[in-house]
Amino acid sequence: MKNYVTHLESAIDGTVLSSDCARTTHAGRPLWVRYDLAAVARDCHPGMLRDRAPTMWRYRELLPISDPSHIVTLGEGMTPLLPTPRLGDALGLSDLWIKDESQMPTGSFKARGMAMAVSMARRFELSRFAAPTAGNAGGALAAYGARAGAVVFVFMPDDTPVINQVECALAGAKTFLVNGLITDCGRIVREGIDAMEWFDFSTLKEPYRLEGKKTMGLELAEQLDWALPDVILYPTGGGTGLIGMWKAFAELAELGWLRTDRRPRMVSVQSDGCAPIARAFDQGARFAAPWENAATCASGLRVPAAVGDFMILDAVRESGGCAVAVPEAELTRAMQRATALEGVPVCPETAACILAAERLAADGWLKSDERVVIFNTGAAQKYGDIAAVDTRTIDVRTPVDYASLA
Ligand SMILES: *Cc1c(COP(=O)(O)O)cnc(C)c1O
Repeated sequence: MKNYVTHLESAIDGTVLSSDCARTTHAGRPLWVRYDLAAVARDCHPGMLRDRAPTMWRYRELLPISDPSHIVTLGEGMTPLLPTPRLGDALGLSDLWIKDESQMPTGSFKARGMAMAVSMARRFELSRFAAPTAGNAGGALAAYGARAGAVVFVFMPDDTPVINQVECALAGAKTFLVNGLITDCGRIVREGIDAMEWFDFSTLKEPYRLEGKKTMGLELAEQLDWALPDVILYPTGGGTGLIGMWKAFAELAELGWLRTDRRPRMVSVQSDGCAPIARAFDQGARFAAPWENAATCASGLRVPAAVGDFMILDAVRESGGCAVAVPEAELTRAMQRATALEGVPVCPETAACILAAERLAADGWLKSDERVVIFNTGAAQKYGDIAAVDTRTIDVRTPVDYASLA
C-alpha cells in the first residue's frame, strides 16, 4: 500500500522530524503529519472513492498507514450528515445540519483518533498504552487497545461519568479514578513513562489521533460533494476535532478537490464553566491561560489547559471564525430540547454548540440562510446521570387508564 507521509513537523517552530519511529511532542508541543500532496494529487482523484467501503479508511492516501495489516478497526463507518429543519427553525437557521458522531464505535468521535493512533502503535510495535481522559477518550483507547491485544492504563477524574468508568473496565483497561482534573491525570501518565514503559496517548501528545479526527472533515467534504459549509460549530476540549478538520480542509484545497475556495468559519464552543479558548480568543492571545476551577457537566469540555491551544486559536482566526462560551446552566435543557426536536441523541458538549448557534444567529453573526453544520460528538446515552429529562413525566402507572392519556 503506497503511503504519502514525508515527515513530521513541529507545530510550534516548524522543526522537521522523521516519521519512521514512534514520537510524542517537540518542545512539549504537538507534531503535524505532513504528506507529499503533489504526489497524492497526481495519483488520486475523488472518483476513486466511489468503490471503497464507507469507513474512515477510504481516505487512505491522506492517512499515515502503510501496511493494511496494521489497521485496528471496530468498523468505524462514515457517520450520517442529517438535515435538522425543526431544530433549525427553533434557532432561526434555514440550512442547519448535524453530523452525528454518536454512531461511532464507543459512542463518540474519539473512536476515529484512537483507531488511527492504535493502528500506528501496532506499526511501531507498542503494546502498553496509557492516557488521561475526561471520559470518552479513555473508553475508545480501552476498546481499541483490547482489539489490539495491548495493556491499557486509563486515568480519569473521580467524578467522570460512571458509564465511562464502566466502559474502560469492561474492555479490560486498568482504570484509575484520580482526585483531581484531567491535567492531574495527564501528569500521572507523563511522570510514569519511565517506570511503567507505557506510551502516552494523551490528546496531541502523539501525532496520529489528529489524523484520525481529520477524517471528519474529509467525510463532511465528500458528503457535501466537495463544497464545504459556511460555518462549523465544534465543541472544544483538547481541540483535536477542530484542528483536525481545519487540516483536512487545507489538504483538500491543496489537492484541488474542493469545488470552491471558500472554507468554513470555524466556531470553537465551550461552557462558561471551563472556557480557556474562548477567553484567549477574546483577549487576542496566542496561547490560553489555564482555567481555574474548571467545572462542567460536558465532560469532554472539561480541559482547563490544552497543549494545542495555539493550534485551535490559529485555526479559528485563519478561518474568520470565533470562540464562544455558553452558560453551563443551560446545557442540559438544550440537550433535551434538541434531542426531542430531531431524535438525534445530543450530548451536552453539542448542546453547547446549539446554544452558541442560537446566540450567533440572534446576534446576526450567523446569517439565517447560511449552511451551518454542528457536530454531535458523542451519544446522549453516555450521560444518563445528568440528562435533564424530568422523570416525573415518565408515567409508571399500570395498567393504563386510557382516558387519562390525552
Ligand atoms: C473529547 C470530546 C470533545 C472535545 O473534543 P476535542 O477534539 O478534544 O476538543 C467534545 N465532545 C465529546 C463528546 C468528547 O468526548
